[in-house]
Amino acid sequence: MPHDGIVIVGSGHAGARAAQSLRANGWQHRISVIDGEGCAPYERPPLSKAVLSGKSRPEDAVLFPQDFVEQHGIDFRSGVRAVGIDRDTRQVRLSNDDAVSYGRLLLTPGAEPRLLDIPGRELEGVFSLRTAVDACGLSGQLLPGADVVIVGGGLIGLEVAASAIQRGCSVTVIEAGPRLMTRAVPPELAELIRLLHETRGVRFILGRQAVALLGSQRIEALRMDDGSTLACTAALISIGVTPRTDLALAAGLEIENGIAVDCFLKTSDPFIYAAGDACAFKNGDGSRLRLECWKNAEDQGALAARNMMGANEPYTPMPWMWSDQYDRTMQIAGHPELGEQHVARHCPDGSLLVYHLDANDAIVGVSGFGSLREIARGVRTGQMLMQRGIHPAKEALQNPKIDLKAAAKVAAG
Ligand SMILES: Cc1cc2nc3c(=O)[nH]c(=O)nc-3n(C[C@H](O)[C@H](O)[C@H](O)COP(=O)(O)OP(=O)(O)OC[C@H]3O[C@@H](n4cnc5c(N)ncnc54)[C@H](O)[C@@H]3O)c2cc1C
Repeated sequence: MPHDGIVIVGSGHAGARAAQSLRANGWQHRISVIDGEGCAPYERPPLSKAVLSGKSRPEDAVLFPQDFVEQHGIDFRSGVRAVGIDRDTRQVRLSNDDAVSYGRLLLTPGAEPRLLDIPGRELEGVFSLRTAVDACGLSGQLLPGADVVIVGGGLIGLEVAASAIQRGCSVTVIEAGPRLMTRAVPPELAELIRLLHETRGVRFILGRQAVALLGSQRIEALRMDDGSTLACTAALISIGVTPRTDLALAAGLEIENGIAVDCFLKTSDPFIYAAGDACAFKNGDGSRLRLECWKNAEDQGALAARNMMGANEPYTPMPWMWSDQYDRTMQIAGHPELGEQHVARHCPDGSLLVYHLDANDAIVGVSGFGSLREIARGVRTGQMLMQRGIHPAKEALQNPKIDLKAAAKVAAG
């Protein structure tokens, strides 16, 4: 057991949860948190939803209660970045020329928005969205009548579209792919989501790429790859994120689509762990997986804390994530990307659930969009079916009149 302190680099979701979990599990030694962002740790999901639609502020969703740092004796280094790791002396070098030693080190540096390498990206009024500062800057542009262009029809882009429309902006989403959310959801769901946005007034341009942002100091227009231009007063570039691996790479740790860890979240150095968006873990089937979602950061932060204390519990997640757009919710559980067949279940209230089956008709994932009630219930049932290895007939999955929970009980005998 390490007795010379645990250092956590990054006080985002995974880092904050790890610090809390260490104390909750009885870690009585030093915990140093290196907080590059310079503010109390907060949840990011509300940024694109409640914060941008003007219903809350980033500080309404802090991860640490105000007095947590003092009460639990956390050595919280606010506004300081880790700039190097000396693995021989087990020290983290900091941007203020200080250094902090570790018995165990947890890397939770998260991810950063992918940049669009086109002219004009430095113009005023061009945003990406990862931090509270980004959200406050973008929020200031979402005035009634503003012309907002969103580059990227993924989850965050669509959440921002919903928020901006609700604030009276005119919104256009440009997506390079032939449909929305190609990475995340099946075509039926993507279509339902597109229709909902269109009825609210969002305009979509699919199969087109932004090639230049135009304006002298502020953005005035965006040029697309067919030569046409769109006038705008603000632009959000939302084309995915890249895991922050620079620190780990410079320290000689193994990198593979993120900071590579084993199933115990341990990196190639046994004294260093990683968790959250930056971390690519060994999945049950031996493949490497990196998840960019709240639940993963929440669970990995807590698990890394326990494992640094010696628990040695493997990470065996059933991935789950959600997105809220208008009064509708989307949820995805399991591994829809492994599905070879999709079975759609149309609920009476217009909600749609899609069960993803492999070649042997086993459920490998479930996704849905609609009312919170139907989607939460349907996805929970799908998770239960996957966990118990129960495979109801396709007719039962399809038919909203059939109670799948009851069918599962019958199937389980
Ligand atoms: C706008 C938005 C909306 C989202 N909505 C959803 C949603 O609806 N559902 C869902 O499941 N997920 C959602 N997510 C994803 C979820 O928030 C992330 O998966 C989660 O925040 C990842 O946590 P993390 O700790 O790995 O990284 P982060 O929360 O990004 O934290 C990393 C922290 O490390 C700091 N850092 C980096 N390098 C250093 C360094 N060298 N020194 C010191 N500090 C450093 C960063 O500044 C940052 O504060 C959303 C994300 C965003 C941005």
